[in-house]
Amino acid sequence: MHSFRYVGKELFCEDVAISALVKKHGTPLYVYSDATLTDHFTKLDQALAPVDHMICFAMKSNSNLAVIRTLAGLGSGFDVVSAGELARTIAAGGDPSKCVFAGVGKTEEEIAYALKQGIYSLNVESEAELQRISKVAVRLKKIAPIAIRVNPNIDAHTHAKITTGTYENKFGIAFEEIEKVYARAAKLPNIRLRGLQMHIGSQLTDVAPFRKAVEKVAPLVERLSRKHGFDFFSIGGGIGIVYQDALASGNAAWWSGAKAKGILTPAAYAAELVPLLRPLGLKILLEPGRFLTGNSGALVTRVEYIKRTGKKNFVIVDAAMNDLIRPAFYDSYHEIVPLTRKTGATISSDVVGPICESGDYFAKDRPLPKVGEGDYLALLSAGAYGSVMGSNYNSRGLAAEVLVKGRKSAVVRRRQELSEIWGLESKAPWQK
Ligand SMILES: *Cc1c(COP(=O)(O)O)cnc(C)c1O
Repeated sequence: MHSFRYVGKELFCEDVAISALVKKHGTPLYVYSDATLTDHFTKLDQALAPVDHMICFAMKSNSNLAVIRTLAGLGSGFDVVSAGELARTIAAGGDPSKCVFAGVGKTEEEIAYALKQGIYSLNVESEAELQRISKVAVRLKKIAPIAIRVNPNIDAHTHAKITTGTYENKFGIAFEEIEKVYARAAKLPNIRLRGLQMHIGSQLTDVAPFRKAVEKVAPLVERLSRKHGFDFFSIGGGIGIVYQDALASGNAAWWSGAKAKGILTPAAYAAELVPLLRPLGLKILLEPGRFLTGNSGALVTRVEYIKRTGKKNFVIVDAAMNDLIRPAFYDSYHEIVPLTRKTGATISSDVVGPICESGDYFAKDRPLPKVGEGDYLALLSAGAYGSVMGSNYNSRGLAAEVLVKGRKSAVVRRRQELSEIWGLESKAPWQK
């Protein structure tokens, strides 16, 4: 469920007409819904209630301070992948002792920072990293709490760029090797083996790969926990969201219909996994990113031009791949709807941005209502892996971001000024 819907002819986010936000803040504009973030967090949290658990929001999906603050307020922990993300958590009032630190390339500085901040666990991806963590912990006279990421070699059947749990991927340590690695890790100084972690991929809409992975890994966790005294087992993130039928899925009725069958709900996820997890008697960590933020955000853009060629109807908008790279990067689908609802026939259209790349598009051959210059469009389900992947390519400033809560709205990232784009740059001393 989410909080983007038409009220009469106007697209609303919660109780705010998005056209009013556009008037005030311009475009391109990211709009986030507090109620959707809260609803998704709460549903997952309640579904997992039968086991001791901690949700660690994967903030790489959306690390806006206000988004972090909303989730921290609901009791969320965080999955961070850099010192920058840990610093953001702290800046937003998050608790480092509820943070896990993932990623294959942690630097010594990052490890030291995480240990000083009292991280819950460093999730280790290689033996070289184990050695490094031990060395840093000895130097700082600290005990480093760690989990090792197992690669269960389960194909999540998702897009190649977001599958992570097979031996083709750079992540984790092979299932067959991991017990030996734990045994060696146990001998390293200043290391505390606190748990085991896995994450098989993203945008999974079927529970089967999750179940397969947990079925395969749970007995391993049990053996390792007996030996090393674990606190937790992290089953990762990856719960998929609705992209195709995004607008309709805001409506409760949609969820009882046929289309919702292909979608993974927290209840269905928990029903399959809780019986496998509960006997372990460990704290279960979840690291959802997209599930919490994806449907919570929309990218709003203005139609600048319509360009008709012999073959195509191009709708040229003021947002671009620097604002939302998912279609170019992952071939992603985002539902596109006008801020003011249109009636009448649709036209097969390509929605493209102004950047000088053929990859700068949001949709190809998409049936869209007839729109013209000055109309506004919303790209739905853009709250995850949207703004966070923003760049200044083509010297375009970063988009503004607004958070809506009920009738209230607030700018949670102001639009970047042009001079800020080159603010870090300078001329060389020999240049006039
Ligand atoms: C990206 C990532 C997540 C979150 O993935 P989603 O598909 O957004 O839920 C969780 N854990 C790890 C280790 C990740 O790299």
